[in-house]
Amino acid sequence: MKTKKDLPELNQGDSNTFFQTEESIFFQEWLASGQPQEQIPISAVCNARCLFCSNRMNPFPIKQNVFRDIEDVKLQLSLGSANYDGVIHMSDSLPGRISEGEAFLHPQFFEIIALVREKYLTNLLQFTTNASMLDEPLVQKLAQFRPVEINISLHSTQPKLWARIFQKTEKPAQISLTSFRLLKKYHIDFTGTIVPLPRICGWDDIEKTFGFLVGEGAKSILLWWPGFSKKTPAGLKKEIECPWEEFEEFVKRMQKKFPEVPIVPQPNLPEPLGLPIKRIINFTLLGNLKTFGGAYHNVLWLASEAAYPEISTMVEQAAKSVSNEHHVFPVKNRENGQSLN
Ligand code: SF4
Repeated sequence: MKTKKDLPELNQGDSNTFFQTEESIFFQEWLASGQPQEQIPISAVCNARCLFCSNRMNPFPIKQNVFRDIEDVKLQLSLGSANYDGVIHMSDSLPGRISEGEAFLHPQFFEIIALVREKYLTNLLQFTTNASMLDEPLVQKLAQFRPVEINISLHSTQPKLWARIFQKTEKPAQISLTSFRLLKKYHIDFTGTIVPLPRICGWDDIEKTFGFLVGEGAKSILLWWPGFSKKTPAGLKKEIECPWEEFEEFVKRMQKKFPEVPIVPQPNLPEPLGLPIKRIINFTLLGNLKTFGGAYHNVLWLASEAAYPEISTMVEQAAKSVSNEHHVFPVKNRENGQSLN
């Protein structure tokens, strides 16, 4: 177990938090998610408190402020396929019970990355970070484990705004902004993520940030529409809200202005949902013991209000050729309290 003095400097707001390693929750989540080879998260500890961070506004209880125990990483590595040659994400949390965090804060970060590299010799290791720790010693050491790709969250290039959004001081903002030069120097690729906060930064500043990432050589840029939940205080909601139409317009404008850089908008509403509707319908035809192996007669589908129009059309189409009946109903999102409709 680590004590506070063993850990890197954290945000002031975290000063009362006692950090510890957790042996099993990461592994349990990995098993529950179907053992995805591409995921080895190691930290649910962050040194920032972003205004829009889902960790604090999540209506479901999630585990925070724990580092993954190195033995737990070894256990997952021992079960990983030696033939896996895809990317390995070491920051993303698996969808479920663990909060996102900064892998670089892990006190045994370099021991862990060495173990991962021992098992996966050439796989791309990917990290998402606010870049506030990416100083030269860290970047230089990290470069020894290439191929590595960093996804940097940068919502403004103005230190004052950076500090306000991440709820840190301007000193780490400077480290973050300098890190792009260091990544170039040590030949580490990066992608960028912007959460556009037009009520705080203004669209001009967001466009400047976008241009900055392009100019520094971002391989792609992810634009995350800022989300909120019913737990978000009304005042904060007003600050972080980004009208959907303005977001869409900005995405289009950036696509036109920087056609050479792939832009990934999240969510990407025009993209088809890609749900296995036909497969699910086939399961309903198999029935169960209660139906003596016959098909379920009336199948009820529940979809969020936002997804309802598309899902109902998909089900209607796919159910045309089957003998049982399928009915889709929209359901209000009472947990998150946010809808695109
Ligand atoms: S950097 Fe990521 S995990 Fe940390 S507070 Fe911001 S959004 Fe949350």
